Amino acid sequence: MDMITASVLVLFGIGLTAAVILAVASKVLYVYEDPRIAQVESVLAGANCGGCGFPGCAGAAQGVVDGKAGATVCVIGGDEVAKNVAAIMGLDFSSVEKKIAFVDCTGGTRAEEIYEYQGVKDCRAQHMLYSGSKMCPEGCLGYGTCVTACQFGAIAMGPDGYPVVDPELCTACGGCEQVCPRGVITIWGMTARIKHLNENTDCLAPCRQRCPGQINIPRYIEQVSRGDFAGALETIRERIPMPLSIGRVCPHPCEGVCRRGHVDESVGINMIKRFVADWEMNSGQRLPISCAPENGRRVAVVGGGPAGLSCAFFLRRLGYSPTIFESMPKLGGQLRYGIPEYRLPKSVLDWEIEGILGLGVDVVTEQLFGKDFTLDSLAEDGFEAVFLGIGAWMNMTLRIEGEDSIGVETGTEFLTKVGLGVDTGIGKRVVVIGGGNTAIDTARSSVRLGAHVTMMYRRTRDEMPAHIEEIEGAEEESVKYLYLAAPNRIIADESGHVTHVEYIQMQLGEPDDSGRRRPVPIEGSESLIECDTVYTSIGQKPELSCLYDENGACTLEETRWRTLGADPETLQTAIPNVFTGGDMHTGPALVITALGEGRKAARSIDQYLTEGVPHVSSNIQRELIPYTMFTDVPDVGYRKRSALPHQIECDERMCTFKEIEGPLSLEEVKHETCRCLRCGLTCYNRDMVEGQECQAEDCIKNP
Ligand code: FAD
Repeated sequence: MDMITASVLVLFGIGLTAAVILAVASKVLYVYEDPRIAQVESVLAGANCGGCGFPGCAGAAQGVVDGKAGATVCVIGGDEVAKNVAAIMGLDFSSVEKKIAFVDCTGGTRAEEIYEYQGVKDCRAQHMLYSGSKMCPEGCLGYGTCVTACQFGAIAMGPDGYPVVDPELCTACGGCEQVCPRGVITIWGMTARIKHLNENTDCLAPCRQRCPGQINIPRYIEQVSRGDFAGALETIRERIPMPLSIGRVCPHPCEGVCRRGHVDESVGINMIKRFVADWEMNSGQRLPISCAPENGRRVAVVGGGPAGLSCAFFLRRLGYSPTIFESMPKLGGQLRYGIPEYRLPKSVLDWEIEGILGLGVDVVTEQLFGKDFTLDSLAEDGFEAVFLGIGAWMNMTLRIEGEDSIGVETGTEFLTKVGLGVDTGIGKRVVVIGGGNTAIDTARSSVRLGAHVTMMYRRTRDEMPAHIEEIEGAEEESVKYLYLAAPNRIIADESGHVTHVEYIQMQLGEPDDSGRRRPVPIEGSESLIECDTVYTSIGQKPELSCLYDENGACTLEETRWRTLGADPETLQTAIPNVFTGGDMHTGPALVITALGEGRKAARSIDQYLTEGVPHVSSNIQRELIPYTMFTDVPDVGYRKRSALPHQIECDERMCTFKEIEGPLSLEEVKHETCRCLRCGLTCYNRDMVEGQECQAEDCIKNP
């Protein structure tokens, strides 16, 4: 073999070896690329803008296939691109929830101007370089870095110096969230917002902490001040479904902790809520309420009062198919059969309930739980979870002689007849026994039916549990008060009809468990009061006999307060798929409490059905956060609180059930929103000094 042949053979051998190695390597080192990456990339907008947070469209496509991004990854592509991406990934586009940026800080213009601006035109850099000493660790610094970070022009600085997001333009790209040094911007979807419970780290102004419904009050007042009435209603409806009713009947505990009250009077928070709710109703058009697509899972809601309506509303919004089972002919609970028309017109209540049902909530009326259906029958009918919210409809009795006389009835029985529009059988001289709100509603309704009314209460006016406006309203309508008087016995004639109440004079002794001074009878001070009708109104409790079977057994827990026992945070009862809320759980309370518990229960039911167990964050706000409850609010000028106008004069009031209070005017609402100090956790807006024009005043417009 000559040299040439040998060289050729060597080269051939090397080539053959290399080919074999390459062939093996290509098998071993072959990197599989999911063809969907290329497909997704091909339908993206192709701008390589990076707005999605990935390095260009190829990166975004990879992110989608890796499950790191959803179908809406392309922030400039809109619905069309998202639909295409969803189709490639085999996703149902209708289940893709729109998210937008939320600025949680609407708080005051810096508690003090203690953040020194050092010349850096970027709040993030400013914060990192010089830090500053702003009191609130959460608050917006107001330098607008988020505005420049937003590639879509969706954020602008509002009149108060805080960012305002345009939900139409926001693509939820998260750019603002990433640059915000204080974490006040969050990308949220409807589901997450509905399910969120107040946490200690949220920007919780005192009003927002105190509201049993956890409504983001500063946010909706700020929205109203900008003329964004629809946005305000959306904010309210993330927490409660009944702004029209609440705007009329809530005793507004939020206003009791309003910092403005340390300056002059609290902001008329509830009047503002009523204004926007009325604005929607009077517009004749319902604002759209977003709901997740139906998931086909059925939940039974027992009781169609505020608690049940709220639970059903939020279950529907979370994608469930709720059915309300109600024993009465119509829904509304005590809103319909307790609270009289002159405080909450039935037409208003009907409009509000129709809106809830219109979302896709089924209703079965005149069905009594415990008799017509049970937990077992609901399970057999395919309901996966149950909410029990039957209120507190059992009346306490006086346990005195003659209580069963003809003409003696409980106040709630009488009010239910009024609510049903049936004959009440009321006489001409009525004695109402009790001093709470139900007693006052009974007295004022009796006046409207032509009776002379005396209210008998065993303590003094100062201890009366009824709201002061109601006590005064009854006085104006000529209701007489017999204070420090307790009924001894009821006297009837030979036909068994009541003729008198014998009562004994009381005096106040030492304070009792409630902190109020205990009434003590004065021996020998008995007197008679003549009457033909007596309404007793001394309290109610839940009627829980429906929970017991024919053998007297009950798998649920009845508490010593005669309420249905449940976990206080998740509202789950002793039966894992049964939840409760409202008066049945709390005992007689407020509409706003029942609405709040309805949402909490819906949240827990959703967690139970999707995760197996309901839960809350360890950081949820339980008590008022003490350091936010300061009472020193300097440098804020006097501005008089607006008052709801009376639509009818006192004389007319006494013979009609027409609604008494009217809404604020647009001017008054402007004024009232301007009184809000825009409080955050610690800060408040001191700009509202006497004589100075409200900054927001010019911005409000009639949308
Ligand atoms: P409810 O409103 O009582 O609703 C329970 C529902 O369950 C009812 O529709 C009932 O018919 C139904 N139900 C009962 N038993 C069964 C059964 N076995 N099967 C099927 N369905 C059943 N709060 C305020 O905030 N402001 C006020 O001004 C105010 N005024 C009031 C005035 C009166 C006269 C009364 C009685 C209460 C007032 N309240 C007020 C309290 C407020 O109305 C209640 O706290 C609230 O309605 C409780 O809501 P709920 O859904 O838990 O119960």
